[in-house]
Amino acid sequence: MTVEAREPVQNDVLFEVKNVKKYFPIKGGILKRTIGHLKAVDDVSFNIHQGETLGIVGESGSGKSTLGRVMLRLMDPTEGSIHFNGTDISALKRREIRPHRRNMQIVFQDPFASLNSKMSVAELIEEPLLVQTSLTRTERKEQAIEIIEKVGLRVEDRLKYPHEFSGGQRQRISIARALITRPKFVICDEPVSALDVSIQAQVLNLMKDLQDDLGLTYLFIAHDLSVVKHISNRVAVMYLGRIVEITDKKSLYSNPYHPYTQALLTSIPVIDHGQSSTPRPTKIKLSGDLPSPADPPSGCTFRTRCPLAHDRCSVERPELIEKDNGHYVACHLYT
Ligand code: SF4
Repeated sequence: MTVEAREPVQNDVLFEVKNVKKYFPIKGGILKRTIGHLKAVDDVSFNIHQGETLGIVGESGSGKSTLGRVMLRLMDPTEGSIHFNGTDISALKRREIRPHRRNMQIVFQDPFASLNSKMSVAELIEEPLLVQTSLTRTERKEQAIEIIEKVGLRVEDRLKYPHEFSGGQRQRISIARALITRPKFVICDEPVSALDVSIQAQVLNLMKDLQDDLGLTYLFIAHDLSVVKHISNRVAVMYLGRIVEITDKKSLYSNPYHPYTQALLTSIPVIDHGQSSTPRPTKIKLSGDLPSPADPPSGCTFRTRCPLAHDRCSVERPELIEKDNGHYVACHLYT
């Protein structure tokens, strides 16, 4: 893949996520009382700067997609605050969120499931303008044509339906639909996972070009570290609802601290041409499944799969601490 993230031009904070939790009640018994909570997101804090791409990586069930939905207020947080562009959107009522919607969009993993098959490409792309703006029909059409060209689709295909396109083209339609309102911020939720490897790089390159062209800020969600490597400026690694490591891309890939990050990196296939001077991190093999977020292990939630676990790990939860400048890790090996 040839995509490379450019450093953000400015350091203004666009998103500030502070101590955010998202717990889902677990109901049980005849009376369907709440008997516990599934802690999908459990006390997560970070900032995203204007123009940057923050990658969020974790296995399925780590809470990364739930976090994305809470950030856009598609779900309400259980606790914590979310500031977007200076506004505390976690405190807003549903109808008060509406004016902010056009500035925060999402591209989903499966373009086939997320696109209404009964609508033409033109209708799909113009719909957000119809709902969120007062533009005339002609203005909507003009803007749709402009974005269709930007995402590399043929304008003459705009009256076709989603099933008439390939997977990669359908994802381009989803991207056009997300960008038609000219948002500042886009969550990309595994946008290339459902695509052939040969198409993935094309779509990633397109997203990077659009970011540069339109001044976008991305949160890029993926289940492995290989996809976010080229597009991200910083990367956060999530495990069972918590961030266990967050730093700039270079530090994460060349000097990972957390055993889970090391395990994720070990699982990336490396093509060694004999010229690489960067040492590979210690090989840690990830075994077993992710424990249930409804019943997480005590202490460090990674301890049931960590080959470096020791007594302290089962009784005390490690906090995220700054190990190096801007490099945060939650592991007792460093405290
Ligand atoms: Fe492993 Fe203990 Fe560090 Fe958790 S705190 S990652 S169990 S060494």
